[in-house]
Amino acid sequence: MFSAILIDKTDTGQKVEVTRLDEAQLPEGDVLVDVHYSTVNYKDGLAITGRSPVVRKFPMVPGIDLAGTVVESQSPEWRAGDSVVLNGFGVGEVHWGGLAQKARLKGEWLIRLPEPFTPRQAMAIGTAGYTAALCVDALVDFGITPERGPVLVTGATGGVGSFAVILLKKAGFTVVASTGKLSETDYLKALGADEVIDRAELAEKGKPLQKERWGAVVDSVGSHTLVNACAQTRYGGAVAACGLAQGPDFPGTVMPFILRGVSLLGIDSVMAPREKRLKAWARLARDVEPAMLDAVAHEISLAEAIPAAEEILAGKIRGRLVVDVNR
Ligand code: NDP
Repeated sequence: MFSAILIDKTDTGQKVEVTRLDEAQLPEGDVLVDVHYSTVNYKDGLAITGRSPVVRKFPMVPGIDLAGTVVESQSPEWRAGDSVVLNGFGVGEVHWGGLAQKARLKGEWLIRLPEPFTPRQAMAIGTAGYTAALCVDALVDFGITPERGPVLVTGATGGVGSFAVILLKKAGFTVVASTGKLSETDYLKALGADEVIDRAELAEKGKPLQKERWGAVVDSVGSHTLVNACAQTRYGGAVAACGLAQGPDFPGTVMPFILRGVSLLGIDSVMAPREKRLKAWARLARDVEPAMLDAVAHEISLAEAIPAAEEILAGKIRGRLVVDVNR
């Protein structure tokens, strides 16, 4: 038996509780993992609260991330004792996820725990940090260089935003962090932000083309913020769009794309192919110092992950929530 958060449907919506499950109930997979740490990402917040139809199969163990040790494997790639990390692949949405002491998974979904990190540190990064790395890789591969001008990061105190600030600074960019929490200016500057701006500047409908400010953008917010970010991007720049914390809409015009040659780069972490994942984690392994992880991460217990879901959707969490599933 093991402990897990379980989401189940009820007549009025859904029920979420910490419960005891039998290993025999685990879904199919060729690798059984003892989970050490998981996380609460924005998407886990949507799943646990039922605010959005993230969970597509009930009952569901949420948790799109996990770090743990292989206990049994029929996969040729993995052996008992291997330290592994999982991000996405529909885990916590259609396949039981990481907010549990055990998980049975497909071997092809796993990557080896990146060299410098402990399981807890890998989860301080989690899908949010790995997505930030995908965004930075996309901008760099596109050809964005520091000479192109400052890079705007929206939702900067969030999980994706915090890691985007760290990674962009390490890559030599001037970083401008947009936040609704100006009280966290010192936090953002410690991560590497050169300037901090109030997100209210970007939150409302604006003109289709605005003063050219950014060489590139990492946006985890969507809606008017993403539209304004595109409208303020310099000629030939690029905007990596990965999130929807303000909204999933894109209430804009094509003007920045057709008059300034701005490119919108879509970023998906869930089904990203293995080579992109390994490249993103290699950037994280190279550029994220353990001391930074202490600043970004806040540890909670399995039961505390349930109320934390509301808080992350309310935009109240700074940095990352790491879940010790064994307490
Ligand atoms: P967090 O909740 O940690 O961060 C989101 C941040 O966005 C908040 O901290 C806040 O930052 C800002 N924000 C919240 N509400 C609003 C609002 N109404 N208007 C403007 N800004 C707001 O979430 P994550 O970092 O985990 O995820 C960020 C987004 O990225 C989510 O939408 C998530 O679903 C998406 N995502 C997508 C992935 C993909 O594969 N494409 C993978 C991972 C995440 P501040 O207070 O500093 O402004």
